[in-house]
Amino acid sequence: MAVRTPHLTFLGKLLCSDIRYPLALDSKMLFLVSSLEKVGGNGAKAYMCAACDGLITHSDRLILVGGTHRHLFVNPAGVECDFHTFYSCPGAIAVGEATEVHTWFSGYTWRMAFCRQCGQHLGWYYEALFKSKPPREFWGILISQVISQ
Ligand SMILES: [Zn+2]
Repeated sequence: MAVRTPHLTFLGKLLCSDIRYPLALDSKMLFLVSSLEKVGGNGAKAYMCAACDGLITHSDRLILVGGTHRHLFVNPAGVECDFHTFYSCPGAIAVGEATEVHTWFSGYTWRMAFCRQCGQHLGWYYEALFKSKPPREFWGILISQVISQ
């Protein structure tokens, strides 16, 4: 018995470090996965900022809004806006106050969306007024502002 107790303590220490070790590996693997994603390693088409070439998002993040992921609207200034909708755009950042004024999607507010890297205007970020409405949020990225490959 006198031998077992230190042995168990040693095992306990091993188990604790075992728990930490896989976590460290996991974060490394996650880093690798996100690095691969940046070069389109998942097979999806990458959308890059037309101004700085920074990665904006991938084609596997397209989302149907009102039955389509491609939308064509004319803004109040008479400019045609041809864009895709994505559920996630890691390379874009939403800026400004959310507003419902002139929204193209009923029940959604919008904010301007810019390239996270160079600040180029890319489109808009939409958020549902009522959180129960799916999708809760999406991005409208202008086709003219990105290069796909
Ligand atoms: Zn950019």
